[in-house]
Amino acid sequence: MLEADEPERCTICGKALKDSDMVYFDHGDGGYVHSECAGDDRESFVDDEGNPLAEGDPLPKPFPYEA
Ligand SMILES: [Zn+2]
Repeated sequence: MLEADEPERCTICGKALKDSDMVYFDHGDGGYVHSECAGDDRESFVDDEGNPLAEGDPLPKPFPYEA
């Protein structure tokens, strides 16, 4: 059973996310990943519907995490 105050964790490095960490939404696992953990390989990104980016699509922008 999850503790109510269990922090949300980066699904790549497993570290707890802090307020204003720059993150991406992880559509695969339904969590968040640090922007630096996701890297900049466009093949690892998906669009808002969870589909792979089409040729020429801009990379998604990370956003500040809010706990
Ligand atoms: Zn991370």
